[in-house]
Amino acid sequence: MPIEMPKGLPFSVDTWTPCSNRKRHRFLTHAHKDHSQGISTHASFPIYATRITKTLTLNYYPQLNESLFVEIEIGQSIAIDDPVETFTVTAFDANHCPGAVMFLFEGTFGNILHTGDCRLTPECLQRLPEKYLGKIPREPKCRLDYVFLDCTFGSFSSKMPSKHVGIRQVIDCIWKHPDACVVYLTCDLLGQEEILVNVCQTFGSKIFVDKENYPECFQSLSLIVPDILSQDPSSRFHIFDGFPRLPERAEAKLAEARANFQPEPLIIRPSAQWYVFEGVSSEAEKRKNGQFKEATKDQFGIWHVCYSIHSSRDELEWALKLLAPRWVVSTTPECRAMELSYVKSHCSYSNLASDDPLWKLLDIDVEAPFINEDVQDVSISSSPSLLERSSGARSESSQSFVSNKEILTASSPGKKPSVTLFGRARLGLGNSTVVYEELVKPETTYQNEYIEVQCKNEVGSDRDVSEGTCDESKSKELTYSSPSGLSKGVGENIRKLYRGMHVPVPKPLPSLVDLLNDIKRSKRKFMS
Ligand SMILES: [Zn+2]
Repeated sequence: MPIEMPKGLPFSVDTWTPCSNRKRHRFLTHAHKDHSQGISTHASFPIYATRITKTLTLNYYPQLNESLFVEIEIGQSIAIDDPVETFTVTAFDANHCPGAVMFLFEGTFGNILHTGDCRLTPECLQRLPEKYLGKIPREPKCRLDYVFLDCTFGSFSSKMPSKHVGIRQVIDCIWKHPDACVVYLTCDLLGQEEILVNVCQTFGSKIFVDKENYPECFQSLSLIVPDILSQDPSSRFHIFDGFPRLPERAEAKLAEARANFQPEPLIIRPSAQWYVFEGVSSEAEKRKNGQFKEATKDQFGIWHVCYSIHSSRDELEWALKLLAPRWVVSTTPECRAMELSYVKSHCSYSNLASDDPLWKLLDIDVEAPFINEDVQDVSISSSPSLLERSSGARSESSQSFVSNKEILTASSPGKKPSVTLFGRARLGLGNSTVVYEELVKPETTYQNEYIEVQCKNEVGSDRDVSEGTCDESKSKELTYSSPSGLSKGVGENIRKLYRGMHVPVPKPLPSLVDLLNDIKRSKRKFMS
């Protein structure tokens, strides 16, 4: 789920909530449904998007009116008249799916790059204004103040093949299986059209898409690449749904062919999901599979090709080295920007001067005496300097937390916490009516208590949480359910709650004693 923009900015990006509705301008980076959740209820003029994104979105949500949209195309800059200040927005290719863009905002609030979902290859980066690109070791002429970054695969250390190489591997895999009469391609997600076009061109056969079973996929492909579609089921190439229960469905197809004494069909899944989350568990296996030389067959008979529409960790690192932004925020809750070494070494509250505009955006008054409300805000927000501590603080005793929980709950009773910036959206917490105490089992540990505190604090926030329906969000959800992703101390009910909200089960949190000291230290520094 995309994150809300800070309170100090006049625009929202990819969020459709009462909060984004109060912003004066809205931006939609691309048409994946996890970025347009809530748009049918919380849309208002103007929504800036590319023509392709607009067309696809209107298709998905026919109740939306076209007049809500303002088109902006790749490479185009628009000066936006705002009552407070005029600012400029420019759209850049995000290398993600048809119509997907990154937005560069330039105004008195600073220079902000919002990548939406992206695959930041060097070619993609080169299209950004030269002044923002450094030439290592030289820093860029002009600094980006904030980068809102798609870190979906930011913790995956292997180098991913380019999309072009991925397509080549799909083609090679088909070449190597001339006996397969039917080739199932799990390419039903927006962003995989290039694979289909190449298969169609190479083998001179159109792709069968079952209109009844995959109406949305059929609609999108009809808009984007109508020439490659076929309604003839005897075509060798079929679109196959990647979710749910792909292994079972694949095994059934293979068994069916064997039972009928027919050659086995070929099932190819071009995706990074299996490599990153599902297929390989040990580091050694990851390294072995991480070579990505060719398609790999799993135990269910599915051939996997690493085809990613999100940046790999090394691509993100490279991008951040060139851009050298002052601050980075991950737009993907499942991976924290802090996992990137650039962010770890360059983005910290202690690097900020007391008059830095970031404080204003965070709604933190550095001159004010240190009070508990600040603890609430900062502990909820995704301050990189705070997150940095989380890895080292996992063994913190519950004792220290409990005492700090008391501090938190004791502070300003009844007062709504001021802005929580990224944290609220990051955790996907909203105006839920769920009684959180009921969800916390007796096995509760300090983590559960932390969640409880946060949920209480969030009552009164205006963000609603709706169910995701997008393929992509479904696929991302797999991360949360993988056994390795489950924190030991989080109860099953809490896990369900998090999964229901399409946010990852949290990792153990840092000690609040450390957090308090951290904030106190930086405040003292500014006030001295
Ligand atoms: Zn996307």
